[in-house]
Amino acid sequence: LQSKQPHIGTTIFTVMSKLANDHGALNLSQGFPNFECSPKLIELVEKYLRKGMNQYAPLSGIQPLREIIAQKTSELYGISYHPDLEVTIVSGATEALYAAITAVVQTGDEVILLEPNYDSYEPAVRLNGGIPVYVTLTPENNYQIDWSVVKAKITDKTKLILLNTPHNPTGTVMSKDDLEQLASIVKDTNIFIVSDEVYEHIIFDGHSHWSPIRYPELQKRTFVCGSFGKTFHVTGWKVGYCLAPQQLSEEFRKVHQWLTFSTVTPIQYALAEFLQEPDNYLSISQFYQEKRDKFIACIQGSRFEWIPASGSFFQCVNYSKITDENDLALAQRLTKEIGVASIPVSAFYHQKNDYKTLRFCFAKDDQTLEIAGERLSKL
Ligand code: PMP
Ligand code: GLN
Repeated sequence: LQSKQPHIGTTIFTVMSKLANDHGALNLSQGFPNFECSPKLIELVEKYLRKGMNQYAPLSGIQPLREIIAQKTSELYGISYHPDLEVTIVSGATEALYAAITAVVQTGDEVILLEPNYDSYEPAVRLNGGIPVYVTLTPENNYQIDWSVVKAKITDKTKLILLNTPHNPTGTVMSKDDLEQLASIVKDTNIFIVSDEVYEHIIFDGHSHWSPIRYPELQKRTFVCGSFGKTFHVTGWKVGYCLAPQQLSEEFRKVHQWLTFSTVTPIQYALAEFLQEPDNYLSISQFYQEKRDKFIACIQGSRFEWIPASGSFFQCVNYSKITDENDLALAQRLTKEIGVASIPVSAFYHQKNDYKTLRFCFAKDDQTLEIAGERLSKL
């Protein structure tokens, strides 16, 4: 077999989690909580399993879940999506991203990626014959986007721009100003936007979530990709959704029906009921802000340097004062020698740029954060 993806290996998340397990290290690498979700949510899944909700869900997802997502989006951002035509439930944001990219990208189309970026974007673009065009963000200005650079990369082949806010791995969030600049750039073009918003409900220090859908100029061309895995501490459930205007949703669904057709039924019912209580998602920002502050307090005495994350459950730290090793070597060494696993941020750059930065996931119980902090502070 001639590989279609010869340059693709196993994702860094799997590699580092395995290394952590092999060495009995605290796993602050792959992004997942090491604590349980709400018992209420488990009870709801059990209820719907026993009620016999065990056959195929409709292709677009069950109606109550589509309705509550539309209602929540309207209440939070004032934008109406038709639950039957413009909301689609899928098997995780990874599927939403893949289906949205596949729906629009054709051979030879250019897709603008702002790196560092989540690892599934580029392969999805390439598997559809697209050409990734990179805009490189760096820690020197805390990964702020220079929109004049984005504008300069746009050609008549540009089909899509991929956004992610709150951002994995950097923990930055987009501002109103970012979106206004983006809106003026794409106005009068046919460029689409895929907006990865899986950390929508994990945002700190009073920041507001600036989704492109808050601007009509952007909303009409945007596929929003969401996931319940992050919001409800259930990354293993793999249930997500896509919001997009009707014509875009139609094309999205054509892909979704051949990828998975539909998504796990009893969990959709449980989520639909759990979402009826807004505090179940509105309380998550405060919860994770405390986790971020806890982690930062635990590494306060270390020689790492950082800017506190504004969202997501990741904190990036610079280690230049500790060693000049490359970030992959350091992440591996710390896993083996001091028993703390992290992700080297170079993994999120297509040319593996090394800015001496590690990403730690702070979605961990306090004791794990304390022990990790003690170990990291000795470096
Ligand atoms: N996008 C980002 C930025 C992520 O961090 C993740 C996390 N795994 C995903 C997409 C994929 O989400 P899911 O697990 O729902 O497929
Ligand atoms: N999103 C998670 C992270 O960034 C990992 C998901 C995965 O393992 N594919 O760590």
